[in-house]
Amino acid sequence: MKIVILASGSSGNATLFISGGTQVLVDAGVGPVVARRLLATVGIETWPPDAVVITHAHSDHVGSAPGFAGRLRVPVWATEATARAARLGDPARARRYASREPFTIGALTFHPCPVPHDAAQVALVVSDGTRRAAIATDLGEVTGALADHLAGCDVLLIESNHDEEMLARGPYPPYLQRRIRGTGGHLSNLQTHALLRDLSRRRALAPVVALMHLSETNNRPDLALEVARDVVGPRSRLLAAPPRGPVVIDATELPRMAPPPRLRPPAGPAPEQLLLFPRS
Ligand SMILES: [Zn+2]
Ligand SMILES: [Zn+2]
Repeated sequence: MKIVILASGSSGNATLFISGGTQVLVDAGVGPVVARRLLATVGIETWPPDAVVITHAHSDHVGSAPGFAGRLRVPVWATEATARAARLGDPARARRYASREPFTIGALTFHPCPVPHDAAQVALVVSDGTRRAAIATDLGEVTGALADHLAGCDVLLIESNHDEEMLARGPYPPYLQRRIRGTGGHLSNLQTHALLRDLSRRRALAPVVALMHLSETNNRPDLALEVARDVVGPRSRLLAAPPRGPVVIDATELPRMAPPPRLRPPAGPAPEQLLLFPRS
C-alpha cells in the first residue's frame, strides 16, 4: 500500500490510498486540478481516483467533492449525516457508508470508527489485506474505542492540531479557542502524545506516524514533532504533514506489525510478537 498526503490542515485535506490497482482519495479538500498536479510531481499519473471517501461535512474536507463527482464522475462515499450537511455534487455518484460498518472499494476495505467532533466524523482504518493504515483527524478527544481501532496499524496518520500554550496566547477569540479545545474540536500535541504513549505501551504503535492537520497559527511542526518524538522510538519514522504535499509513504517496505491485540488468540504463545523487535 502506498499513501500520498496531498494536503493537510484547515486550508484543505486530501490523502490518496493506493493498492492493488485501486486508488481512493480520503477527503476532497483540494480540487481535481490541484490533486492531479501534485500527484504528477511524484510520478503518479493514474487518474482519476476510483472513489472519494468523505470523513465529515467541514469544507476543508468536502469542499471539492462536487468537482470530483461532476465532470470526472467519481463516486463520492459519505455517511448519511455528512450527506445531509454538505454539498457532495451529482446525486448519481452518491454512495453511502455506515459509521461503524466496514465497506470495500476495489482492493481497499475501510473500517470507520466514529470520533467526537462538531460534525459527525469518523476515523478510518484502510486495509488491503496485507497492510493497515489509519487516518484520524478532526477529533476533540481520543475515545477508548478509537485507541483500540488504531492499535497495530502499519501507518498512523494522526491529528496533532495545536500547542495548548500557543492557542491560549494566540490571536483566536475566546469562543474559538474553547471550540478548538473542547470535545468537539481538535487534538492538541499533548492529547496526541497520550494516544501515542498508550499505543506504544501496548506495543501497538505504527512504525510510521504522520502528524496531521497542524494549525498554522497555533502550532509549529518542530514543536509537534518534539512532543511526539518523546514516545515514537528512533526506529520509527515520524513526520509532520505540511499544509500542501505531496508526501509519499510506501507501506510495502515496512516491517510487518503483529495483528492488533483484540485479534490475538486468547491464550498460548504469540510468536508474531517477535516481529515487533526486528533485528536491524
Ligand atoms: Zn479539518
Ligand atoms: Zn472538522
